[in-house]
Amino acid sequence: MSSESYLVIGGCGFLGRHIVEQLLERGESQVSVFDIVQRHFDSNVTFFIGDLSKAEDVQNALQKSQATVVIHTASPAHGMGRAIYEKVNVEGTRTLLEECQSTTSKVKKLVYTSSGGVIYSGEEDITNVDERVDYPSKPLDAYNETKVSAEKMVLKANNDNFKTCSIRPAGIFGPGDRQMISGFYNVVKNGQTKWQIGDNTNLGDFTYVGNVAYAHLLASDKLSEIYPYSNLRDPISSINISLG
Ligand code: NAD
Repeated sequence: MSSESYLVIGGCGFLGRHIVEQLLERGESQVSVFDIVQRHFDSNVTFFIGDLSKAEDVQNALQKSQATVVIHTASPAHGMGRAIYEKVNVEGTRTLLEECQSTTSKVKKLVYTSSGGVIYSGEEDITNVDERVDYPSKPLDAYNETKVSAEKMVLKANNDNFKTCSIRPAGIFGPGDRQMISGFYNVVKNGQTKWQIGDNTNLGDFTYVGNVAYAHLLASDKLSEIYPYSNLRDPISSINISLG
């Protein structure tokens, strides 16, 4: 348990819900959720229903929750049109960063959920890389392009008074999943299992949702500590963590 006040953006989603539950399980007494839709009801959590791309909604949640730590997991699901990604991932994240840094805000730390897809162009395999690998010149699709833009804004915003961090999960599985298993099920149901792309040696990363959620808690805890490699010639000012 800490003295922090947590606001989980997208806290009614698959990953966001696990983060909320882990915060409550470890005894945090100040946990709030901001989401466009309410799917959960807890007596010890304050829910703010609003749109991330609307400054007044975000401002209201930050002020009323008195948040000191923001964990930003909100995004439209993969496979939708560019406009909604631009609105939520780019404009929404920009709005959130601005409001977190406004004079009335108490936010000191922000953890952003990015995606492993930000470094994948779809044209070449990626093997044994870490977070130092560059973004591809051509992003895989609009979803990943806007996740790159959001991630860059989040990392650029990092400073001594407002610490930021970006986490890049690959595929996430576990209880509460609304995308992956239903997608696999539809493939089977539609008889689409008779095709094979590649020679069956390609690998992909999948991480259990509880571990991804735990990584967000650890990242938010560690953000207040001094970065251990600050004596490097070209110190990394903000941290990207890839999960796989
Ligand atoms: P999810 O759809 O279950 O949760 C996202 C939440 O964001 C939802 O509750 C949704 O209502 C909320 N949201 C969407 N637009 C909003 C808006 N305008 N304002 C406020 N809230 C809004 O998705 P998830 O699987 O939990 O993914 C969480 C994060 O992890 C996302 O940022 C996603 O890009 C990233 N991610 C997910 C996977 C995966 O396999 N699920 C893999 C890599 C990265």
